[in-house]
Order: sequence, then structure tokens, then C-alpha cells
Amino acid sequence: MRTDYSAGLVGLLEAILTDTANLSGALCVGSPELFDPPLPYEDAADTRYRHENAEALCHRCPVLERCRDWAAQRRTDGSVVAARSPRLPGRPRSGAA
Ligand code: SF4
Repeated sequence: MRTDYSAGLVGLLEAILTDTANLSGALCVGSPELFDPPLPYEDAADTRYRHENAEALCHRCPVLERCRDWAAQRRTDGSVVAARSPRLPGRPRSGAA
């Protein structure tokens, strides 16, 4: 996407918001710490506990499907998004024997 800065602040905001999903009503608002990637030196059990609680919020979220569509087009940073936790070190891959 090419941004036209000559359109001023309104044009810049329009460019930013054009590809942004409408996630109003998202249940993660106000609880970002649950969704954050593993913290340096955080115990793996603590990360898992946070992420399980984040996933539980996502499963009750009224915009889960829109969030899932939005997340499918993006690379995540290790955060929980749309009820999906990042693969943590040491966690076996799905389908691994
Ligand atoms: S599905 Fe989860 S990450 Fe997506 S908006 Fe809802 S609470 Fe937030």
C-alpha cells in the first residue's frame, strides 16, 4: 500500500484504517498482558496459564471470526490472537508422534 501524505492527517488516518478490521467489542481490550508473547525469564507454566486464559476470552469474544480472518492475513509476534497461542519452545508440533 502506498500512502499519500499530501492528503494530510485525514489521508494518513484513512490509509492506516483502510486495512484495519472492525473489532469493536473485542474482549481483549483492557487485558493485553494475557495475550502478550512469553516474557524474558517468564516460567513456561506461567506463560501457558496466561495464554489459556487469553484463549478462553477469545472463545467468548463476539468478534472471534472477524479477528480470525484478520489474523490469517498477518504474521503474529508470539501473542495469542483469535484463540490461537504461539508455539512455545519445547511444545511438540501438532501431529508429532
Ligand atoms: S478473538 Fe481474542 S484476540 Fe481477537 S479480538 Fe477477540 S479477544 Fe481479542
